[in-house]
Amino acid sequence: MSASTKANGNNSNKDDDDDDERKPGAGWSNGDVPPQLYPSTRDGQLALYSQQRRWIGLNEGWSRLGDGGHEHDAVTSTSFHGKELIGNNNNNTTSNDKGTEEVVLQQRMDEQALAVRSLIAQLCETFYKAGWATGTGGGCSIRVPTPTTTTVARSNTTNTNTPATTAWRVFVAPSGIQKEDMIGDDIFELDMDRNVVHPPRTVGLRQSACTPLWYVVYHHRPTAACVIHTHSLNAVQATLLDPYETSTCLRLTHLEMLKGVGNHAYDDVLEVPIIDNRPTEDLLADQLAAAIVRYPQCNAVLVRRHGLYCWGDSWEQAKTQCESFDYLFECAVKLKQLGVDPAAPPRAGSYRHEEDAITKESLPEEETAHGTKKRKMATTNNGSAGFNGQVGSDNRSDCLSNSTPLLPRDEQYKFLLIDVEGCTTSIAFVKEVLFPYCREQLYFYFDDQDEDELARHVMSLEVERSNAGVPVPASEKLFDMLVELAKSMMDHDVKAPYLKMLQGKIWEIGYDLGEIQGHVYPDFLPLLQWLKANGNVKVYIYSSGSVQAQKLLFGHSLAGDLLPWILGHFDILTAGPKKEAKSYQNIASALGTDVSNIVFVSDSIGELEAATAAGIGAAVMSIRPGNAPLTATELQTYPTVHSLLQLCGC
Ligand code: ZN
Repeated sequence: MSASTKANGNNSNKDDDDDDERKPGAGWSNGDVPPQLYPSTRDGQLALYSQQRRWIGLNEGWSRLGDGGHEHDAVTSTSFHGKELIGNNNNNTTSNDKGTEEVVLQQRMDEQALAVRSLIAQLCETFYKAGWATGTGGGCSIRVPTPTTTTVARSNTTNTNTPATTAWRVFVAPSGIQKEDMIGDDIFELDMDRNVVHPPRTVGLRQSACTPLWYVVYHHRPTAACVIHTHSLNAVQATLLDPYETSTCLRLTHLEMLKGVGNHAYDDVLEVPIIDNRPTEDLLADQLAAAIVRYPQCNAVLVRRHGLYCWGDSWEQAKTQCESFDYLFECAVKLKQLGVDPAAPPRAGSYRHEEDAITKESLPEEETAHGTKKRKMATTNNGSAGFNGQVGSDNRSDCLSNSTPLLPRDEQYKFLLIDVEGCTTSIAFVKEVLFPYCREQLYFYFDDQDEDELARHVMSLEVERSNAGVPVPASEKLFDMLVELAKSMMDHDVKAPYLKMLQGKIWEIGYDLGEIQGHVYPDFLPLLQWLKANGNVKVYIYSSGSVQAQKLLFGHSLAGDLLPWILGHFDILTAGPKKEAKSYQNIASALGTDVSNIVFVSDSIGELEAATAAGIGAAVMSIRPGNAPLTATELQTYPTVHSLLQLCGC
């Protein structure tokens, strides 16, 4: 069956005249509208309405869905020849002229609605094909300024003193309809108060569940003219780069496609806010509003495990930005899989700001000026400032990191000593899993114990409490006092032996019950396996967490029991403080080797400095999502790794 046969399928029904309830396929954009119903066009300007569906104005260089006051507005057909209809308009409008203006105005209103409805249907089909709107998900809204008699008159005069007031017509896609099968007849027209002005001609449709959200965007971004919502898989995955799902924004930098999301340069940091999903779309409105306000430079908001909202000042801008965002999200996910942090600047590379400067100096003056001008245009394109004030920042230090030691190719390194938090394990794990678990379980832990035991705990904790200057608990009942005391000490981050012992016991129970699993980054086990298989490098842990806590974590890790791979553990008690050089010498003696044979990996500059002072073979900075940010100088002091596998040579 050919497309035209299909489209004309409804023609067998002979009683279709004047029937307002048209069937799908018989509508504005792609149905069997008789040719005489197409608006007469000038030079194919409204080719959109023909059976060949085309983007508005793609071939004519005009595309704005304006109010018809400008010759490049889409709403410009025979009515624009209104010069004949309206005559040589001036301020002395006669009543007859007024009548004519109203006719022209109505014509423009109709054409405008036709154009926007068709466009939304075409966009939705495009989004379906891109995989953004499968299973009826996703959607799109466009708003256009309402044509007024003022704008009709203005388009025919060179001068008018009447200020333009903008009343918007808001068009929204319906809910629950196949996005690739939508037609103009299916679209709702609303006013800015969300009242339905014109329901779709297709009966039985509901407005998109996103409707309140379109309005949130329109409210907080007064120039936005189009909002797109996708259920893109790339967007969904990009919201899950943080395994704890607590991150409130996705960061990306040093990617060419950053230029595609409005006013970002290659080396800017793009921050896309992430909000948590809710059972229904309309419940997202408050979070969406908050995110838009908090991230004024970003034209999109991610919804975790759901998709993306993206907007632009024109439908073209919204669409192309949406494409760029989607590319960037896919990129972020794939970079993360490679072990590269999408938020971090490149570790190395040939791009240097100073080289650019030298090249420019050596160029003839005219060309230099041209080059400078070009760069300026790229970063200030839309009239607002660069993102996060990073435009033009000096990033030469990004490119100068020292080379990473490679195990076991660099043969002198026989030992790998690794810190836990921020290296093998996410910092968030300790903060957001271990400590909350301990707080929750205190009650149950003490619940089993008799009065004597409780009193012993209180006595021991009391000493540590008063040493740390934590306030006296208010509760008087022994049990309540004990729970309050322990919680309060944890709140004050007291690090004292008895409290630590209690925490350790609670965690041990949690690990044994399988209620907690030690977080390890996915590259840790492959590193251990690789090192064993290639040169037998011995791996040791050195953390401020106790040896017992380390063993629990790695013995019950997400990757299984890792203890057989780890040859030993050091903590503050067994080796000494991590920011003291002596501690690293202690470890070397314990291992029966020279400090220079050890590679040490940590996320703390202070620890790397101490290790270096001790004469460590190599000190390596670990960069993981959620680690404390580093200054440019810190970034270039030690070699950096985003994945422990970067330590593997061949
Ligand atoms: Zn949705």
